[in-house]
Amino acid sequence: MTKKALITGLTGQDGSYLAELLVDQGYQVYGLVRRSSTSNLVRVSHFTDEINIISGDLLDQSSLMDAIALSQPDEIYNLASQSYVPLSWTQPSLTAEYTAIGVSRLLESIRRIKPDAKFYQASSSEVFGQPDESPQTEKTAFRPRNPYGTAKAYAHWLTANYRQYYNLYACCGITYTHESPRRGTEFVFRKITRGVAMIKLGLADELKLGNLDAHRDWCHAKDAVYAMWLIMQQENPDDYIIGSGETHSVRELVDCAFKCVSLNYQDYVSVDPNFYRPDESVQLVGSINKIQTQTSWSPQYSFNNLVEVMVAHDLKELMDNQL
Ligand code: NAP
Repeated sequence: MTKKALITGLTGQDGSYLAELLVDQGYQVYGLVRRSSTSNLVRVSHFTDEINIISGDLLDQSSLMDAIALSQPDEIYNLASQSYVPLSWTQPSLTAEYTAIGVSRLLESIRRIKPDAKFYQASSSEVFGQPDESPQTEKTAFRPRNPYGTAKAYAHWLTANYRQYYNLYACCGITYTHESPRRGTEFVFRKITRGVAMIKLGLADELKLGNLDAHRDWCHAKDAVYAMWLIMQQENPDDYIIGSGETHSVRELVDCAFKCVSLNYQDYVSVDPNFYRPDESVQLVGSINKIQTQTSWSPQYSFNNLVEVMVAHDLKELMDNQL
């Protein structure tokens, strides 16, 4: 029988890749999309005829109940959220509404309408904040240090609560930063690869960045969504860290990206303290031991590979736009 999946956040980076993966696997895919005055379907425009779009919003309980009743999903992936950490400082209440309370609305809707549906919650390494161990594991204490991480910590524990109390098949994937050509340009990785492409094409002559010594655990979004799907295929629901298992500095990233276009980053990068995060997390890197041991997952893209793919994409996109 054809499996059915409902994805919230279909129009985002991860939602679009996950929908592609599930369509390829033969699923009937439903995507929850909130209304906007201009189309927000740009990341899925190449295959909208293969997916079913349902109008709804994490702020609106009845729309979530209707979406579940209509799609009757076997699997529900909650990828929707206010996902940008800096915005969570300027819009903390909205971040809590989308990212924390939205998950409460969704879990209640599942419990009432389709309690046998499997549920995946997009948790985040930001729940660890300033961790007291590195690498982090699924047992590392949560010490979120920004409104986004705090909202994700609420959503994470609520998912675990519903698993324990209501016996739902509910899992969390604690993802570290993951990137792709579909990443928003406000995020540092894409800001760098796009900035490098612009400099190479003579469209810019400088790239302003924050702390070059900040470290992150970066992987490709395609690797991350494959891990999400695998987590949902396990016999028992559980929580897993999804990351590359490696940490790299922004300086390494910048160096690698400029080398892709045969330039030296020191000629173009300037450091602007305004871009420093007020709460710079140190050494956020995940142990991927559990997911590698319990599932067949391992990342397919290396760090260098990811940088190359994204610089090449941004160069091509900018050149196409100039034609
Ligand atoms: P993204 O590109 O920012 O996409 C977010 C999605 O959420 C968009 O489809 C957005 O819709 C939707 N959305 C926001 N508010 C909504 C609401 N009130 N109702 C319904 N939909 C709403 O994020 P992403 O990179 O794909 O990340 C997917 C998930 O993983 C998010 O929960 C994020 O917090 C989490 N995460 C991501 C990373 C990462 O590195 N990418 C790391 C850790 C965790 P619009 O298109 O209409 O705005």
